[in-house]
Amino acid sequence: MRVIDLIKSTDKTAFSFEILPPIKGTGIDKVYADIDMLREFDPKYINITTHRSEYVYRELGDGLFRRDRLRRRPGTVAVAAAIRNRYDITVVPHMLCSGFTREDTEYMLLDLQFLGITDLLVLRGDKAKHEPSFTPEPGGNSHAIELEEQINDFNRGVFVDGSPIKAPLQPFSYGVACYPEKHEESPNPEQDLHWLLRKVETGAEYAVTQLFYDNRRYFDFVERARKAGIDVPIIPGIKPFTKLSQISMIPKTFKVDLPEELACEAIKCRNDQEARILGTEWCIYQCRELMEHGVPSIHFYTVGAVESVRDIAKEIY
Ligand code: FAD
Repeated sequence: MRVIDLIKSTDKTAFSFEILPPIKGTGIDKVYADIDMLREFDPKYINITTHRSEYVYRELGDGLFRRDRLRRRPGTVAVAAAIRNRYDITVVPHMLCSGFTREDTEYMLLDLQFLGITDLLVLRGDKAKHEPSFTPEPGGNSHAIELEEQINDFNRGVFVDGSPIKAPLQPFSYGVACYPEKHEESPNPEQDLHWLLRKVETGAEYAVTQLFYDNRRYFDFVERARKAGIDVPIIPGIKPFTKLSQISMIPKTFKVDLPEELACEAIKCRNDQEARILGTEWCIYQCRELMEHGVPSIHFYTVGAVESVRDIAKEIY
């Protein structure tokens, strides 16, 4: 079943979460252990993130360095297939423009076709760490919309070079990202909504939000999106903070505000344990309110926070 059907087929607020592929050189057991911790809450689907390559400098001695290309977290497609095989659950690998040529994307789509994995989250991806701003690969896609168009062409049976795909296809379906507090590069919220509308018109069946801590921002965003003609489910993305350092790091990294009530409580936290308790309690409060407003689904960002997500899920599901 497609993600959109899974969300619509349940009366309750659906539960889903995102996991990261293991760091290169480590095994998949930790991924399984995390999933095992959350399985009892009946996740409808699991997202698997994708990470572009970065350049790293390796010291060779005598003041010399070598510049190497490194993908710290490879294996999105394989991890998605492994999870699907082990748990018989819908998996949603993330597809990026960032770091991928159209040809790379095509090969990833072909691999996914062979595996029968056809739910995707379509994203531009973050900029490379060494770049001041996002730069597509030569011959790569510049925006999520272009990647959607490539996937649409693939669904119509056309490769990037215009040649036909001869085998029968199971079409891909996909969602996209959205930002209740605006994407950091967007000049204003209206422009950002304009492009979200275009992403939906291009074929996105739902949108998943960037994490947020202030439900007012989400409710306001959904209202503005509906007025702009965006009629697909807008799935709230929730991430409990688990460490004292995250209280200042999360707003900086994700360009989101903490509401005053939360900020006042956060200031009182003296250690990670207190921060974790506050982060969990706040997300329980957030989720309960979101559920009262009838959100179709809640999507959890679990990196470094699986225990907290389990504690939240225990309270709300
Ligand atoms: P786009 O939709 O391309 O938008 C980027 C910016 O350009 C926005 O400001 C938008 O308003 C504007 N814009 C959009 N289309 C156009 C256009 N055609 N012309 C001009 N301007 C345009 N990153 C990863 O690297 N890996 C992941 O796995 C990952 N997963 C994520 C999951 C979710 C749910 C979310 C919310 C984000 C995720 N990200 C991930 C981060 C994401 O890649 C970044 O936020 C990225 O900077 C923007 O991606 P996008 O798909 O929203 O880009």
